[in-house]
Formats: sequence, structure tokens, C-alpha cells
Amino acid sequence: MEKKRKRKKVERDGESKPVRATNGAIENLKDPYPTHPRPTPEECLAVRDTLLALHGFPQEFVKYRRKPANDAAKSESSHEQDASASHDHESVLDGLVRTVLSQNTTDANSLRAFASLKSAFPTWEEVLNADSKDVEDAIRCGGLAPTKASCIKNVLRCLLERRGKLCLEYLQDLSVDEIKSELSLFKGIGPKTVACVLMFNLQRDDFPVDTHIFEIAKTIGWVPCVADRNKTYLHLNQRIPNELMFDLNCLLFTHGKLCCKCTSKRGNQPKKKCYDDNTCPLLKYRNDIVILIYRRTLDTLTTSSVE
Ligand SMILES: [Zn+2]
Repeated sequence: MEKKRKRKKVERDGESKPVRATNGAIENLKDPYPTHPRPTPEECLAVRDTLLALHGFPQEFVKYRRKPANDAAKSESSHEQDASASHDHESVLDGLVRTVLSQNTTDANSLRAFASLKSAFPTWEEVLNADSKDVEDAIRCGGLAPTKASCIKNVLRCLLERRGKLCLEYLQDLSVDEIKSELSLFKGIGPKTVACVLMFNLQRDDFPVDTHIFEIAKTIGWVPCVADRNKTYLHLNQRIPNELMFDLNCLLFTHGKLCCKCTSKRGNQPKKKCYDDNTCPLLKYRNDIVILIYRRTLDTLTTSSVE
């Protein structure tokens, strides 16, 4: 078992952070902005600490935090993993469905839709065997009910066909790339849903980019202003240190929901608290890029003049 854990760690590290100096081709393939210097590891740490001081760690995400190594060792067998999934943590399949239900709606509505689905159909077998219309009715409060019901039923049907049971815990033993290809086989499951399941339910080093994080990343210059969400995902997954990914993601998401100053959609979201420019601590990083570029230009000029 020890051997297996070790293998997993090596694979995770290898996949998420290709060696820059010796494998530029892989880096370029994975990072659309290899010359964009931000965020630096120091900046990621500073933003994590700043947001932690401002908001505290968001309670809703505590249950998804990675267990310390000695706790993980206690639940090594798949039987124990299943047991722990049913008591302390949601199962991987629950997490996948919860993420599907969270698309294009508020947290409150998606939680209500998930609770309503579980109450109407306590097992995934019952969801699979139910009429689509009844599943739609159960999740209607989460919006896009026909699309989401069809996606969920399709996942369940394909999973049963391929694996013989409605359980995704087998993903725990796969590498990040293998998990991505497995989940991408399900129609309607996109990269952001996969990234969420990787981070929240499989405790892997991955950094999903939702609309809040995307807006903040552009505002404070972590990606070029022309970046789209997928390129932002690829870039941030290369730049953010693995050990900071989970906390930083949860904190940026929470901050993005609360603050209208560091997103470009600031005018459209009246429910947000509007920190002023002095109280939103992230706006300071917007200015830091100017200083960083200035310093780099100075360094280049100094180096060229010495040569
Ligand atoms: Zn802000």
C-alpha cells in the first residue's frame, strides 16, 4: 500500500508540473502563456494569507480538505474508503452530480436541487430507473432541469454499462490524466466539472477556474486580459504551487462571490458587498504587475548594458 501511495504522488507531481528546464515542449503544450510571469509562488502565498485573514477558511469547504497522511493510511482499503465516503464525505459520484447541478445557478439553488434529488430518489439506482420527467421535477429549482437530468441519467447509464455498478470510487486509484479521460467519456461532463471532482472529491492538485476566479485572475493580471477561461485554467495550474491550490481556490471563489471590486462584472451584481479600492486587498496586486514589469525591464536593460 505504501508503494501504491508513493507511485500516486510521483504521478501527480509529474503531471501537474512538467519539468520546465528540460521539457519546454510539454510546458508550452500545457501552459498557453509560458512567458507570463504571474502569479509567482510568493504572490500565491501572500494572496492565500490575505484572504484567509479577511474571510477565514470557508466552512462549506472544510470537509473536502485533504486528510493528513496518517488519517489517509487508516482508510486504505476500498471497503473503508466506501464507509468513510458514506459517513464523513460525499462519494465521488455524489460530488460529480452535485457539480453538474451547480452549473449556471446559485449555490443555494444547487444545494436545494441536490437535496431534493436525494430526497425523491435516495439511491443512484432509483435515479437511473426513474422517468426523466420525475428527475427533472426533482431538480427543477436548480435550473436547466432537462439538460441536467439528461446528463445525470446518461452518466449513470454509461457507468453501469462500463463498470457494472454505480460507483466512481475506482477513480481514487487512477492518475490525474487517467481520471480526466475517464470522466470526459461522459457526455455533458466538461473540464471544469472534472477539475472540481479532482480537487474536491479526489483531493488531487488541480485548480478549477469558475467565473469568479476567472474574473479575479484577469483583474489582478494573473493572466493576460485576452485570456479565456480554459487558458486561464491551464496557466494557473502551471503557476500555482500544488500545496496552495486547494485553499487558494476556495478563498478566491469565496472572495469573488462577496466582492464586486475585483471582478469586471462589478456593476451587475448588486447583492455583493462592495469593498472600496482600499478595502479589497486584491486590488493591490493589480498594481504589482506594473512594478514587476518595470523591474524586469530594468533587469534586462542592466544585463544588456553589462554585455
Ligand atoms: Zn475583491
